[in-house]
Amino acid sequence: MAILRFNAVEKAESRKPVFIEEVKKRSELFGANVFNENAMRQYLTRDAFVGVMSAIEHGKKIDRKIADQVSSAMKEWAMGKGVTHYTHWFQPLTGGTAEKHDAFFETIGNGMAVEKFEGNQLVQQEPDASSFPHGGIRNTFEARGYTAWDPTSPAFIYGTTLCIPTIFVSYRGEALDYKTPLLRALNAVDTAATAICKYFDKNVKKVSSSLGWEQEYFLIDKALAASRPDLALTGRTLLGHSSAKGQQLDDHYFGSIPSRALNFMRDLETECMLLGIPVKTRHNEVAPNQFELAPIYEEANLAVDHNSLLMDVMGRVASRHNFKVLLHEKPFAGVNGSGKHNNWSLSTDTGVNLLGPGKTPMSNLQFLTFFINTIKAVHDNEELLRAVTASASNDYRLGANEAPPAIISVFIGQQLSEVLEELEGVTDGKLSPEEKTDLKLNVVGKIPDVLLDNTDRNRTSPFAFTGNKFEFRAVGSTANCANPMTVLNTIVAKQLKDFKIEVDKLIDGKNFKKDEAIFNVLREYIKSSRNILFEGNGYGVEWEKEAKKRGLSNNIKTPDALKVKISDKVLSMYEEMGVMSKVETKARYEIEVEEYTMRIQIESRVLGDIAGNHVVPTAVFYQNMLIENVSGLKTIFGNDFEAHAKEQIKLIKRISEHIEGIHYKIDKMINARKKANKIQNHEERASAYCNKVKPFLDEIRYHCDKLELMVDDKLWPLTKYRELLFTR
Ligand code: ADP
Ligand code: MG
Repeated sequence: MAILRFNAVEKAESRKPVFIEEVKKRSELFGANVFNENAMRQYLTRDAFVGVMSAIEHGKKIDRKIADQVSSAMKEWAMGKGVTHYTHWFQPLTGGTAEKHDAFFETIGNGMAVEKFEGNQLVQQEPDASSFPHGGIRNTFEARGYTAWDPTSPAFIYGTTLCIPTIFVSYRGEALDYKTPLLRALNAVDTAATAICKYFDKNVKKVSSSLGWEQEYFLIDKALAASRPDLALTGRTLLGHSSAKGQQLDDHYFGSIPSRALNFMRDLETECMLLGIPVKTRHNEVAPNQFELAPIYEEANLAVDHNSLLMDVMGRVASRHNFKVLLHEKPFAGVNGSGKHNNWSLSTDTGVNLLGPGKTPMSNLQFLTFFINTIKAVHDNEELLRAVTASASNDYRLGANEAPPAIISVFIGQQLSEVLEELEGVTDGKLSPEEKTDLKLNVVGKIPDVLLDNTDRNRTSPFAFTGNKFEFRAVGSTANCANPMTVLNTIVAKQLKDFKIEVDKLIDGKNFKKDEAIFNVLREYIKSSRNILFEGNGYGVEWEKEAKKRGLSNNIKTPDALKVKISDKVLSMYEEMGVMSKVETKARYEIEVEEYTMRIQIESRVLGDIAGNHVVPTAVFYQNMLIENVSGLKTIFGNDFEAHAKEQIKLIKRISEHIEGIHYKIDKMINARKKANKIQNHEERASAYCNKVKPFLDEIRYHCDKLELMVDDKLWPLTKYRELLFTR
């Protein structure tokens, strides 16, 4: 094994950078492999074009005849680019993307064949795919699963395959994927927000949710990564002593990008351009060999698809450059982990960003309405927002003094805090003309167009307002953004719906003027959601205490955090907003709880294997060398040998202690696993894995990492942190 490690290091270090020529401007490549509006204009008949556009813009159904025209145009377009296959591309609840390729090729008898792609093949497929997680949905009645075309996310070519973004649902239409509930949530927020916009501008007909994600990742030499079974099987290192130099000097953050990594990025960006993913920003992150990539924000459904696609493309491009991309939230102990900030906002079809403070008091009132309703939605659903970021892998990152804590709070900055305070102070009930003027000019009119403290942001906040959008920072780097986006848009939709009911009641019942009614309800919201606002240090223990006093949840462990997903309140909210039925929500919960158990189970098995079969034998081998050395010294020095072998003897003892520790704890861990496996209830089983099995991971690691420091470097079988993190 040691040979493997050294070969791997040598191979990695001898790689010379290859510079890729960029022949074209990015803008010329952009969307070249996407069946976008431009391609549709060229390939579709007028009827088909109008049909697809009205499906995209207004959710209109596409009839069979139009579908036939679209499919044949898609085929023609794709074959012109060397495509031979097509696939329905979807996002099952495994977290990855799924595809099953079919050739256009079909035989027509008499030894002849043609290329075919018909409307029904575009619109719907039955890929079987019965092995994807379904949480019981497919046992109950009909096992069939269907994929159905989502025309709002354009088809694209990847390699030689035409990929058609689809939803994945059961025979009875229950969601089996991430996209279906997201589309429903986006629809819910559109309906609720459009109704509110009409208070301010009757012309608004549609509100869309936007998402700009920021993807963090590690880039590790492929051969080095392959030499670590833990990285290969769990995505993170389960052991490994910290490198003497880590991120202490902050010399990686925003530093010059190593040339090999830069080549990978350029290649990746070219792929992204072709696929229409508008990537814009790249930089080094805090930890060594950690990087970030961010696009220009897009409509949320498209942005989610693009992030899922990106995660897949990254792996493939990395492989070409002899890299392995690590998307895990915490691949290495002792240095920062990776997140995926979700920047979110709402905007109208009239071109207004509803979370951008406008120039006039009136647009400021609209801004305040959406701003305060979002805060209230987060306040009322903080536990659910925490839950949506919970996973076995994100548990290693959240609350580790580098990422937001497991307590959800909202940071809004000093200026807006002052505005809310003044608004809260306005007297109850109807406003006198003076108060009205005062309010408009002094409170609402005071919000500057550009918020000064949007640059001076609080990095410790899990949910921060950053000038013209909220930034949800607790999301993990492996997450499918559909999850947080579904929750956020649903809770805001529900909140806006309730807001409208309250405002209308005041207008109708008490003859309040519209503005007064809005002010009155907003003022109450500020009071009732004040507890969620926090401007201080989210990492401090004081905040933990303070948050507890405020009644905010602090669910550090995933099995505890997930529970709220099946609370009556959440089940009813999803149902009321038409996002998920109770059956769907419960199925998803079950899948997530099971996934947690399996992840910890795998980690525990892998660590047991590495510690028992790699670390211990190596330590024994080295210990034997020491023993041989001691007996040699005895032969030379006779009775005097102890004076010369003191340190060796100490080392021999210490090695024995750690070997003993490893064996003892592996046995205990296996017993804990056996016990947990017998538990029938899946929640209790997950709890047992969390509380009884998982603690052994750290305990066993402790002994292994100590041994790493003692054993001869030449013998050590696992590639070390310094090699993984500092090979460029
Ligand atoms: P950071 O300092 O957190 O890295 P940036 O200024 O680089 O932040 O922007 C972060 C992300 O926010 C980008 O992906 C950008 O596209 C996105 N963003 C900007 N405006 C909006 C918006 N209105 N809605 C959603 N995302 C947005
Ligand atoms: Mg950010």
